[in-house]
Amino acid sequence: MFIYDPILEVTLADYGILIPSKPDKIRKPAAFLERRLSRVKRERWFTPFRADLIGRADLERVHDPAFVARLYAGGETAREEVIRAFELRDASGNWYRYDPARATRPLEDLFRRELETASGTFQACLTAEERGFCFLLSGGRHHAQYGYGDGFCLINDVVIAADAFLRRTKAARVAVIDVDAHKGDGTAALTAGREDIVTLSVHMGDSWPLDPERRAIPGHPSLIPSDIDVEINRGEDDRYLRALADGLDRLDPLLPGGADLAIVVDGSDPYEKDELPSTANLRLSAERMLERDIMVYRFLKERGIPSAWLTAGGYGDASHEIYERFFGWLIDEEGIAGE
Ligand SMILES: [Zn+2]
Repeated sequence: MFIYDPILEVTLADYGILIPSKPDKIRKPAAFLERRLSRVKRERWFTPFRADLIGRADLERVHDPAFVARLYAGGETAREEVIRAFELRDASGNWYRYDPARATRPLEDLFRRELETASGTFQACLTAEERGFCFLLSGGRHHAQYGYGDGFCLINDVVIAADAFLRRTKAARVAVIDVDAHKGDGTAALTAGREDIVTLSVHMGDSWPLDPERRAIPGHPSLIPSDIDVEINRGEDDRYLRALADGLDRLDPLLPGGADLAIVVDGSDPYEKDELPSTANLRLSAERMLERDIMVYRFLKERGIPSAWLTAGGYGDASHEIYERFFGWLIDEEGIAGE
C-alpha cells in the first residue's frame, strides 16, 4: 500500500527555509506509481491520507509536555521551536539559511504540517499491519528529541507512531530500522530502556551530531546509542551492504518471537547524488541504494513482519530516483502492475 497526498509536500522554501528538500522527492515517485499502475491497481494500492489520527496526548507520551505546550501555543512561542529545530540562527544570533523575505507562510505553521505527517506515519503503521506493507511518501523525523526539535525534525513521528501503535493495537514489539545517512539519534534517545521498541540505525560514522563540539559533550542526548548502531566511515561505501546485513543479523536475537511491526526510516540521503553537504561522507550508487532497500524488504518479509516505510532525509534534485527504483522493483517483485 502507498500513502501520498499533495498536502504532504512540505515546501520549506514557502517558509523561507533554504534547505534543498524539494517536493519532487515525493511528487515524482507518486507520479511514477500513477504511470506504472492501472486505475484498478491504483485504487487497490493507494489509501487516502488521514491527517487527524495523532493528537496532543500522543505527543505528550513521547515528548516533554512543556515542549508540546510550546508547540500548541502557536505564534512566537512555536516559531522559536521551529527556528531551533531547523537551525535557522547561527551562534551569533544571525539568520542562517532563512530568508523571511521569501516566506509566504509563517514558520510556526510548520507544526501543524508535522502533526499531520505524524498522523500519516501512524496511518502507515496501521495499514501495514492490515496489508503487510505500506510506504508513506513522507515522515521519518528521527532527530527530534524529548524537549526540542533538531536536525530539521520538529517532532519525532517515528516514535510517536510506534508508541501509539503499541497502545492502540495488541502489538507487543515494534522494530525501527533506520537507514537514513544520519543516525536516528532522537529515536534512540526517546526509546532508550524500552523493550517494546527495538532500534537499528545504519549511518555515517562521526557525523551526528554534526558539530564536533556537540559530539564532545558527555551525556548529550544525541550520543545515546540505538539498540544496534552500525557506522560507515568515509570511503567505506563498499562495506555498506555487508554492514547492513550484519546489522540485520544482530537485530534477529533482539526480536525473540519476531516483531508485530517494523518502521523503516528509508532516507535517500546516502545516495551519491544527494546535495546536502553533511551527507557527503556516504556516497552510495543507485544500484547499492536499491540493494539496500531490497535487503531490508526481504529481511522483513521472510520473517512475516509487516513494515511501514517512510521517506525521511533526501536533498536535491535526484532523491526521487531512489524511491522510484525501489517502487519499480516492488511492482515487478509483487506482481502488482497491469489490470
Ligand atoms: Zn538524513
